[in-house]
Amino acid sequence: MAMIPATLLLAIAQFLITSCGNGTSTKPPEQTDSNFPLTDDPSAQEAQYKWDDENCLANVKPGKRITQFSATSWSQGQKVEIAQSIDSILADGSIDENVIGGDTRAREIYSRSCSRTDSAVGGCLGPEGRELNWTRTSQPGVKPRFCKDSGNYPRDSLERITLEALKHFSDARSFQVKAYLESKDPGPVDLKIIPSFETIRFNSSSSGNKSSIVDQMAYFPANSGLNETAFIAVFPGRKDENQDSPRLWETSFVLAHEYGHHIERKLGFDQYAKTRTVARAAVSEGFADIAGYSTKKGMDLELNNIGCIKDRRISSGIFSDKVEKKIDKALLNALLLREKDSISNLSTIKSDFSLPYLACTSAPSRTLPHGLGAILAHQVFVIASALNDIDPNRSKRDDRLELAKFSRDWLKNVNGSVGAGRTVENDLLLISKAIETAVLNESSRKSIRLTETDFKSLCSKMAKGFSGLNQSSWFSQNSCSN
Ligand SMILES: [Zn+2]
Repeated sequence: MAMIPATLLLAIAQFLITSCGNGTSTKPPEQTDSNFPLTDDPSAQEAQYKWDDENCLANVKPGKRITQFSATSWSQGQKVEIAQSIDSILADGSIDENVIGGDTRAREIYSRSCSRTDSAVGGCLGPEGRELNWTRTSQPGVKPRFCKDSGNYPRDSLERITLEALKHFSDARSFQVKAYLESKDPGPVDLKIIPSFETIRFNSSSSGNKSSIVDQMAYFPANSGLNETAFIAVFPGRKDENQDSPRLWETSFVLAHEYGHHIERKLGFDQYAKTRTVARAAVSEGFADIAGYSTKKGMDLELNNIGCIKDRRISSGIFSDKVEKKIDKALLNALLLREKDSISNLSTIKSDFSLPYLACTSAPSRTLPHGLGAILAHQVFVIASALNDIDPNRSKRDDRLELAKFSRDWLKNVNGSVGAGRTVENDLLLISKAIETAVLNESSRKSIRLTETDFKSLCSKMAKGFSGLNQSSWFSQNSCSN
């Protein structure tokens, strides 16, 4: 029997999707981090990533357990090869699901088709900013197996990508579950190494232009239309680590950021719960950046000079183009201008809008909501660190853990207050007031007595970070100056 080429099947499936109209579309999945660069040649991308040890998959035999594997690590933007330890490979070469609390699969293929003419927002996004029409067009992915005696898989083999992502994922999970959830069950999250997320955009003449999402990661919440279980997707991408697209699965920050989105859900924050405004989505990204940053000691060194991801170092007060991370008048005016153009809803601006001076070109770090999220994350960091400085018992505590707890309090204070029906200016004011509330809550939890001098110092930091907002005083300190 002649095989129908997979590409033809895909084309048929996509035609059906586009022609069936709005009424029968599946529930749109929610997706975080959807500012993906697109390429023109998805099949070339997909072909790049192969199993190094095909024989292992074809004929699994009890192999030797890998306890160490070669991995790429980053320090000050320099790549180094190191041996990583991992306890997650079982005797038959499979992965122990307990390590990440979910299933690991590779090579699932997702596809979607969007009509540019169907929607004012470019076809792939619904009115609430949700991604539309994703469908898994392959069988469930393959469960990776590791049969080699040594863990030295080639850098871009699917085995090594899986092992590296898994390692960072399990590290993120251990820290964040303890720090944010007091070790309560975070619920399962799967890991999927996906060679291709394919988008076909139809224009009015119905000729599709195909593009593929590559080289980023995304967190998909449970029951989002794609999957019952939440998953983190890793899309192996371009190979040029000096550009905007390094191999992000080698960077622990990025997997820890995605896991932070899972924690955020567990803490009750859902950026889709109300209208997904820029501010609400930026809080989500900022929170995930803080979670990612606090997961590991030395994150500054890891992120230094890695593409545009370096802009996400929450400890740094400037983007790589020297623009300061603060909510000043210029930024607020740019946001308000967009809002006046009646495109305040995130769905309309998510991929094409970048504030002109928010660092780096054509990278997620630059576009909303990540750029605004980076500013919020830095401001939370500044105030949480100032509170640590004041704490007489600081030496008995762990700064990273305290930062995590502060950000958790901030997120809870933001939740519910920010979103539908407010201007971006209102939202940002509420978001900043939530930092104030976190200071009061956290100082009370840690029995830190704040003096007038402390308040003045915190007040001036707030005034500096949020100078664009119409707030005459912070912490009720009328005389605080910036
Ligand atoms: Zn994110």
